[in-house]
Amino acid sequence: MDKMDLVNKLFYVLEMNQKKNESSPESKILVDKNLEKMRDYFIKIKLDEFKEHTKADKGEVIKYDKEFFRENIPLKKIIVVKDNHEPYETNPLNNIEFRKRIRSSYVEPIKISSGKYKGKIGFEPILIKDHVSKLTYGCIGHEVVHTQIEQNPNLLTNYYNREVLSIFVEMIISKSIDDKTLDNIIRYRFENVYECISDLSYYEDMIFTSDSIAKFRCYLSSSLKALHLYDKYRHSSRDKRIEILSLIEDIFCGKLTVEQFLDKMNVTYKNSKDVDMVKHYVKKY
Ligand SMILES: [Zn+2]
Repeated sequence: MDKMDLVNKLFYVLEMNQKKNESSPESKILVDKNLEKMRDYFIKIKLDEFKEHTKADKGEVIKYDKEFFRENIPLKKIIVVKDNHEPYETNPLNNIEFRKRIRSSYVEPIKISSGKYKGKIGFEPILIKDHVSKLTYGCIGHEVVHTQIEQNPNLLTNYYNREVLSIFVEMIISKSIDDKTLDNIIRYRFENVYECISDLSYYEDMIFTSDSIAKFRCYLSSSLKALHLYDKYRHSSRDKRIEILSLIEDIFCGKLTVEQFLDKMNVTYKNSKDVDMVKHYVKKY
């Protein structure tokens, strides 16, 4: 990999930031009365104990995610960019590495600057936090969904929706493990929402750069929409659930954007800020 590839590492995120739709409600200050009510409700959650008691095997979690996607939402190959290798195409689940010293799991798109795939989006290994527990199944699914959407910059027109499908699929996979794991993944996501609401309320103090504000808004908006989607999915018939999963497959194939999918599902930022729905899922412990 040459120096230009390193420079291009943040290409996608920056481009998406520029593309964000300024007329969307999320581009205004997000903390309104409804969200203030949610913040009053949330408590800080400790998941360490859960992680310790539900340790899992690395090979098993990757195998499980492979089966989940094969059976529910088939994956498109991605271009992998690794040091000293020519970029090559593979299933994203063949591109996972477990690392000790990372804060949380992630994957970054890179614009390839030379060779056969010049101008296309590639990915370095998907990095997964080394503390493998039942929560890891959903985390892998989450990052894999990012690769599916972010390899095609046309699939997302509003930056604030960047996390929606990843979090939604993370919830479906966690539910397929067991109820307790879904519970914990939702608590984990909404601990993050609590932090976003708290951090955004300091907006006027200008402590944060506009990039971090965009990130907080993105996580806040995406988590609320993902939970709303999950709520609709949970109340759907078996046939309707299959239809929802095949719409996600259409997005991966480039036939539908994330925003068109949210339109079809009637999920907006406004109708996702439902305190009672959030309370139903994020129970106090
Ligand atoms: Zn994500």
